[in-house]
Amino acid sequence: MRPREISVKIMVQKKKGEFIMSLKTGAEYMEALKKLKPVVYFKGEKIDCVVGHPLIQPHINAAAMTYDMAHDPAFEDLVTATSHLSGERINRFTHIHQSTGDLIKKVKMLRAISQRTGSCYQRCVGFDAMNALYATTFEMDAKNGTEYHKRFVEFLKYIQENDLMVAGAMTDPKGDRSLSPSKQADPDMFVRIVEKNDKGIVIRGAKQHMTGMVNSFEMLIMPTTALSPEDANYAVSCAIPVDAPGITHVFGRQTNDERKWDQIDQGNAKFGVVGGECLTVLDNVFVPWEKVFMCGDTEFAGMLVERFASYHRQNYGGCKGGVSDIIIGATAALAEYNGAAKAAHVKDKIVEMVHLTETLYCCAIACSAEGRQLPCGSYYVDPLLANVDKQNVTRFIYEICRLAHDIAGGFIATMPSEQDLKDPVIGPLIEKYYKGVANVPTEHRYRIGRLIENMTGGTALVESMHGAGSPQAQRVMLTRQANVENKKKLAKILAGIEE
Ligand code: SF4
Repeated sequence: MRPREISVKIMVQKKKGEFIMSLKTGAEYMEALKKLKPVVYFKGEKIDCVVGHPLIQPHINAAAMTYDMAHDPAFEDLVTATSHLSGERINRFTHIHQSTGDLIKKVKMLRAISQRTGSCYQRCVGFDAMNALYATTFEMDAKNGTEYHKRFVEFLKYIQENDLMVAGAMTDPKGDRSLSPSKQADPDMFVRIVEKNDKGIVIRGAKQHMTGMVNSFEMLIMPTTALSPEDANYAVSCAIPVDAPGITHVFGRQTNDERKWDQIDQGNAKFGVVGGECLTVLDNVFVPWEKVFMCGDTEFAGMLVERFASYHRQNYGGCKGGVSDIIIGATAALAEYNGAAKAAHVKDKIVEMVHLTETLYCCAIACSAEGRQLPCGSYYVDPLLANVDKQNVTRFIYEICRLAHDIAGGFIATMPSEQDLKDPVIGPLIEKYYKGVANVPTEHRYRIGRLIENMTGGTALVESMHGAGSPQAQRVMLTRQANVENKKKLAKILAGIEE
C-alpha cells in the first residue's frame, strides 16, 4: 500500500470515531509532511516545501529514523510502547510513561537512535511536553475544577492515533532578562493571550530555538518560566498546527550550513548537525478552547516548566551518549588512519572519552530508575539527577570534543574542499598530501575528518550548552532539589553537635 493511501484510510476510520492506531514509517511521515503548508523562510526566501529542501531534509531524515526504527524488530521494544489510553501499540515518542521501566527505555531508545543519526532527531521535545502537560493538567483540574486534562487527553489520542511528531515550544525571546513578562517594554517578548472569546483564545509573541518545528505537525506552546499573578496573560499552553494562520517560521543558520549542498564536506550528509532550529512567530493566532491546556493559571506555570525541563534534561545522557559514541568511533578510526592508534596517549584519551560518555549515560539511567509516580498515574524522573545529567553535558561534551580535536589534528580545520579533492588537476595533489597510512584511501581520512569537524564544532557545541536550558537553569534546580539543610543535619549529628 502506498503511503498516501494509508493516510487517507486513517482519516476515514477516525471519522467513524474508532481508535485506529498508526505506526508510520519514515516515508509515510514525509508524505504526510508534504500535505502541510507552513510558512518557512530562510535567508529572505520563502521555502515552498520543507520536504526535499537541501537545508531541511537532513533534519527530516533524522526525524524519520524515529518512525523507521519502530518497524525494526531489533528496536521494537524500545521505540514502541503500549498506549495506556487504547491498549494499542504506538510509537514511544507519543507515549505517556507508565513506569520507571518506560523512563529507562526512553533513554536507551535515544542512545540507539543517536548512534544511527549522529545528530538530533528532534522528536523528544514534543514527547517531553506531552508528558509534562499530561501530569500538570491533571493536577490543575484536581485543584481548580478545570477541564484541561480532559482536553489534553483528546489531543493526545489524536497524536497517538496518527503517530504525529509534535514540536515542544517553550523558549520565549525574553527581552530584558531583568524584567518579568508584563514589565517588558515590548509585551510580545513572551507569548501572551491577547483575546479570549466564546470560541477560544488569540495569542501572540514568538518562540525561539524551535527544534524540529518546521517538520512537525503540531506545536505545544508552554510558558518559559514560573509566573506571578500579574503575568496571567502569559500563563498559556495550547496546541496549534505548525501551519495555522498567523504563524511564520524563520529557519536558523548553522555553522557551515552552505555545506548541506555538499556530500563529503558536510560531514554527516544524511542527517546534518543538531536539530534544524527556527524562530516561530505567532501573530494573533487563534486557538479553539479544546486545544487550550492552560489559560491564566499562573500558579501552575512553574510546575509545567520544571517538569518539561527535567524530562528533557533526562534525555541528554541518552542522545548525547549516542552522539559521543560516534565521535569516539570517528576519533579512534582517524587515529588509525593517521597511524597514531597505538600511541599510549591516544589510547588514554579514547578511554577518557568513553568514561565521560558513560558518566552521562549513567546519570540518564539513574534519574529514570529513581523516577516516581505522579498523581495522574504517569511517571516522572528524579529531577535532581536529571539536572545533574544535563549539567554534565554542558561540560563533558566540550571535553569529549576537545579530546577528539587533540587526537584528530589540525587538518580537520584546514583541509581543502571536496571539490578540490575531486578536481582532475589538483585532486591528485590533495590525494597525495592528505594521505595517512598507505592502505587507507585519502577520501576515507577526509570523510572521517569532516564528520569530526561537523560533530564537534560551533553549532553542535552550543546546542550541548544551551539545549534543554542553560547551565544556570540547571543550577537553580540543583539548589532547589539538593536539600542542603538535611545534609547539615547529618553532618552535625556525626560531629556530636546538638542544637
Ligand atoms: Fe532529542 Fe537530544 Fe534532540 Fe533534544 S537534543 S530533541 S533530547 S535528540
